Amino acid sequence: MNIHEYQAKTTLKSYGVAIQEGIVASTPDEAVEAAKKLNEQTGTEWWVIKAQVHAGGRGKGGGVKLAKSLDEVKSIANDIIGMQLVTPQTSKEGKKVHQVLVAQDVYYPGDSEPEEYYMSVLLNRANGRNMIMYSTEGGMDIETVAEETPHLIFTEEIDPAVGLQGFQARKIAFNLGLSGQAFKQMVKFVFALYKAYEGTDSGLFEINPVLKTSDDKIIAVDSKVTIDDNALFRQKDLAEMRDKREEDPTEVEAGEAGLSYVNLDGNVGCMVNGAGLAMATMDIIKLSGGNPANFLDVGGTADAERVEKAFRMILKDDKVEAILVNIFGGIVRCDRVAQGVVDAYQNIGDIPVPIIVRLQGTNAEEAKKIIDDSGLKVHSAILLQEAADKVKEVLA
Ligand code: GDP
Ligand code: MN
Repeated sequence: MNIHEYQAKTTLKSYGVAIQEGIVASTPDEAVEAAKKLNEQTGTEWWVIKAQVHAGGRGKGGGVKLAKSLDEVKSIANDIIGMQLVTPQTSKEGKKVHQVLVAQDVYYPGDSEPEEYYMSVLLNRANGRNMIMYSTEGGMDIETVAEETPHLIFTEEIDPAVGLQGFQARKIAFNLGLSGQAFKQMVKFVFALYKAYEGTDSGLFEINPVLKTSDDKIIAVDSKVTIDDNALFRQKDLAEMRDKREEDPTEVEAGEAGLSYVNLDGNVGCMVNGAGLAMATMDIIKLSGGNPANFLDVGGTADAERVEKAFRMILKDDKVEAILVNIFGGIVRCDRVAQGVVDAYQNIGDIPVPIIVRLQGTNAEEAKKIIDDSGLKVHSAILLQEAADKVKEVLA
């Protein structure tokens, strides 16, 4: 699950990470109030107005702007709230902006130039350790840095049982070229960030940029976090931060029904039990000349109710020209699933696209008979190849 920048920053702050202070606003008037309040709290006379959407690269898309007066705060907030923000990380339609974060300007002039760094804490699945990835090249796309100047990206591996060690945090501050007060602040920053990463059960906590201000403070200016969905049961406060407006509505609906669904751009709807089988099914669809319209794992209990729900979800997608149901009957017997398919079909009424049902496993033959005898416009198959050939046939 992802959360907004303003939520991530509040979370960071609660772990002792220094942040660029800000207040979220949903209207231009609220933005002005927020700016006044920030002025009282921090003394700032300039503000940055930042679109709150679950996508990076907002600056490039015009979603991050500096305001030098309250009038500018109002007009910029007015422009950004409600806009469809297109960034390198969104689709071409972009994402609708519902809120902005009004933040203190932290790039103020002083004894030294502000400097931007990159830092993220993430799980290295290859070795089961946490990793801090950091770079002197902050503020820009880290993928570009990785491609063009990979030697400027450093990593520090952390044994989760031992935790982050002092020498590691000092090494990071040293490699970033810091000294004096900024060095000390960075060591503190790294420790607090690591604590936040662990405490929130995150798989990724990315701060880009981490800023060294002109008076040697180290603060988080941006923040992106991905929380492990499997930990949400014990992260109640974070779970409440979920903003469903940022997610694909069909995927949200699927999640609520206990189905895992990912929308794709092909023409063949898939209904499968098990993620591995779903992947294999998508491969076979490709091989037979189709393109999967979705990934859909109905899970272990493929009963009539779930099958019906899954059909309805797939049918919402106008691109779907055929549906391939591929179920392996283990504990759930194939004949029960077949009956579920027939019942679901009858409940929905007219399904306008051809359906190919492939059931394999316990009672597969009985299942095929149920489908064949149902009198419905459903093609049955036992072998996967057979099912793929039928998909090809109906699409031709
Ligand atoms: P992103 O584009 O979605 O990654 O959003 P960021 O939060 O990283 O902001 C984009 C850029 O806006 C940063 O890299 C900064 O250059 C700039 N920016 C952010 N905060 C301030 C600020 O307080 N003052 C000024 N002048 N620029 C800022
Ligand atoms: Mn950023």
